Amino acid sequence: MNKHKLVLAALLSGMGYMAQAQQGAKPEDTEIYTPVPPVVTAGKTAADAPSDAIQLFNGKDLNQWVLTADHSKPADWKVAGGILTVNKQSGNIETKKSFTNYQLHLEWRIPANITGTGQARGNSGLFLASTGPGDAGYELQILDSYNNKTYTNGMAGSIYKQFVPLANPARPAGEWETYDVIWTAPTFNTDGSVKTTARVTVLFNGVLVENNIELKGPTQYIGQPHYQQHGPAPIKLQAHGDKSEPLSFRNIWIREL
Ligand code: MG
Repeated sequence: MNKHKLVLAALLSGMGYMAQAQQGAKPEDTEIYTPVPPVVTAGKTAADAPSDAIQLFNGKDLNQWVLTADHSKPADWKVAGGILTVNKQSGNIETKKSFTNYQLHLEWRIPANITGTGQARGNSGLFLASTGPGDAGYELQILDSYNNKTYTNGMAGSIYKQFVPLANPARPAGEWETYDVIWTAPTFNTDGSVKTTARVTVLFNGVLVENNIELKGPTQYIGQPHYQQHGPAPIKLQAHGDKSEPLSFRNIWIREL
């Protein structure tokens, strides 16, 4: 037998084995009936909260938020007309509740009269887990990225200073933008070392910009990121100190996974 015939014979014998293994198998053998997934009533559009979501901002109040700097103080950003607007004087705000793995939807809008350039033009951020005071945590950058040049791992859709977005689907200032995030929290060994890294997938205006990436640790403004053990954590919104006009949010909801 030459080499080609040998290969063919080996293939045929393998197929024969597979056919034998399937003998007597029924279609029902590979059908799953339980457990049944829970019924969830979907929103009218993908932006609307499904029935099992927690409304983090319902358009009326900030009852579920506190100041990052002082958890005993209510978040005092401006709420009007169903919209939440950053109060730069009071600083970052975060949820009272902590989360581990989740799906989150958030809408943000850079004011039409935005001024400034680079990182100082509509800067905010969605901290996917707030691991401490100030800007501690994993920041999904929010910024005017419509014709606004800056470092690419600091533009909208970036995991700040770690991952450049796969595309730039930013809309002009004055228009609403959406983030849909799937967050998998990091896990740690008992000695505090990383067992599994944090992972995130981000859709920006419906466009995939971060595809199940493995974060290097919480956001580090200067230097290399590194992990520190933490448990469930709040969601945080950034009041950035730039001089540009404050941006707004609406329709923030989360589904714990
Ligand atoms: Mg920011």
